Amino acid sequence: MTLIGIDFCQLCDEEIPFSEIFKGQLIFQNRIVCEKCMRQFKTFKQLCCSDCGGKVAKAQRTCLECLTWQKYLGFRTNNIAVFMYNEIMQNYLTRYKFQGGYHLSKLFRRAIWHKIYQQKAEIVVPIPVHEITYQQRGYNQVEGILGTNFTRLLTKAIFAEPQSKKTKLERLDTSNPFRIDSQVSVSLETKICLVDDVYTTGRTLRHAYNTLRQVGFTQLNSVTLARSGFMREV
Ligand SMILES: [Zn+2]
Ligand SMILES: [Zn+2]
Repeated sequence: MTLIGIDFCQLCDEEIPFSEIFKGQLIFQNRIVCEKCMRQFKTFKQLCCSDCGGKVAKAQRTCLECLTWQKYLGFRTNNIAVFMYNEIMQNYLTRYKFQGGYHLSKLFRRAIWHKIYQQKAEIVVPIPVHEITYQQRGYNQVEGILGTNFTRLLTKAIFAEPQSKKTKLERLDTSNPFRIDSQVSVSLETKICLVDDVYTTGRTLRHAYNTLRQVGFTQLNSVTLARSGFMREV
């Protein structure tokens, strides 16, 4: 928001110091978030689980939860998270996703593409939102972060059946909402990078991996903007 030449931080609503705005202008960037807020976004500096991208306290490659999923599903994920899901990330996502803050979509575009390029994928597939969510929100938040160069290979359905009586693993098995969009033609040899905003339990991403694997895609990995939760030590 700009008020008579004054810029306010889009996350804390405080006035952005002129020195920060001036610095932004030097690198042709509009400062919409103050430096104090930006410093609160934390990347993973330590060892991460190779499957979910979360913290692992010891020198193991995979956390216990992901090992359990691997055993049950027969495949592993390969996820990297850009940031930890902390209070400022929650604030960002709330404003971006639920308070119509589409102007915040660009804030981490460079950061997420930096991780995506490291995956050396041939196509980038955002996790879809359901058509109703899309209509209400006006955008898919993942596509907003990416900006461009993505492929809408997956679609999302809504399930009416109650899932509450099933175990976590049973739910994963039976309630996969993702389908391949048959109108999109992609060779099964294509190396795909899935992208989502937050990894919480991993259920969403594993559904997406599962859908792609079932039709024959094998070269899959994923990047999420944030990773919530702390993994148990193995
Ligand atoms: Zn701020
Ligand atoms: Zn893990």
